[in-house]
Amino acid sequence: MQPDGHAQAFHPSMDGRLSFDARPILVYWEMTQACDLACKHCRAEAIPQCHPLELGTEESRLLLKELRAFGDPPPHLVMTGGDALQRADLLELIRYALSLGLPVSVAPSATNRLSDAMLQEFKELGVQSISLSLDGSNAQSHDTFRGVPGCFAGTIRAAQAARAVGLSLQINTLVTADTLSDLPSIYELLQGLEIARWSLFFLIGVGRGKGLRPITAPQAEGLFHWLYERTKEASFAIKTTEAMHFRRVACQRMKLEGLTPEQIRRTPTGRGFGIRDGNGIMFISHIGQVYPSGFLPLTAGNVRSASPVEIYRHSELFQSLRDPDRYRGKCGHCEFNRICGGSRARAYAATGDPLESDPLCVYQPRKKVLV
Ligand code: SF4
Ligand code: SF4
Repeated sequence: MQPDGHAQAFHPSMDGRLSFDARPILVYWEMTQACDLACKHCRAEAIPQCHPLELGTEESRLLLKELRAFGDPPPHLVMTGGDALQRADLLELIRYALSLGLPVSVAPSATNRLSDAMLQEFKELGVQSISLSLDGSNAQSHDTFRGVPGCFAGTIRAAQAARAVGLSLQINTLVTADTLSDLPSIYELLQGLEIARWSLFFLIGVGRGKGLRPITAPQAEGLFHWLYERTKEASFAIKTTEAMHFRRVACQRMKLEGLTPEQIRRTPTGRGFGIRDGNGIMFISHIGQVYPSGFLPLTAGNVRSASPVEIYRHSELFQSLRDPDRYRGKCGHCEFNRICGGSRARAYAATGDPLESDPLCVYQPRKKVLV
């Protein structure tokens, strides 16, 4: 399952200072690359078997202990993959993470491994939420993306079963030129699934996703306005992944509607202010490589030889990504760059420089662009 944003909590560091220097709010741990599916856009380039060098159980326990060393409040751990259910020690590691005080969510793949009994087990252990991917409003569109017939039916069944046992549920949807027109129908479908959050992932051309067509910047702008309208009526929260400039549009709209900065910060969108690759987010691969996110393939070290806390706080890569004053082009001069900052992953995919501007944004900052 592709990693995705779960910025659900109002983080204490978001009280106006927007600082994630000390700790991330979310750590995505790609426990394995193994997955039975073959999605067209798979970031992990998932394979049928576990990689021989993936972190073993003892190394994984050590990693969890080191993540707890971020202190309080602890980061929220998202156990993802590949398919986390391919790890025989998944439940043991969830139990251990929870015993350390790490809040845990799981992002499994919708296969037969995700049984009702497994969902019940997650609930009883204390897993906070699970996320499932839905990239089409019907079997034909979804299964074409996911590469396995029956995946749509399996996803809907798993979503209903998760809710039946009382698990909070996030649905992740990929935004590309091919899924764009289906988003209103997906939204309608979600109304009946009692979900907590809909997260729309705006394609970054990494992994198998390189072969897919992204939407254009004007299309993204139109989509943001449509999504903003939906936030007013939906029974669930709506957020974007690798499209931080949705926050800019939401801010512009809320300001026009008369909300004060404090009121804006307290909205679900406001609670995600500032979170982006390397700033509030850290990704650890199946072999222990540490990245600013799952979509920015620049590593700052490996947990086998360095502390993830040290890497996050002190590596040049993470420090530079946390400092919008070091961004180039319009993202460097934009008055929204502390709450948005653009997708560093998309900037890197487009230019080879993670500090460049996000090309998916139409906005022209008011401040003078000096370069
Ligand atoms: S479910 Fe699809 S996107 Fe997720 S790991 Fe498996 S193949 Fe990749
Ligand atoms: S220019 Fe960059 S920082 Fe400003 S809104 Fe667009 S993506 Fe965000």
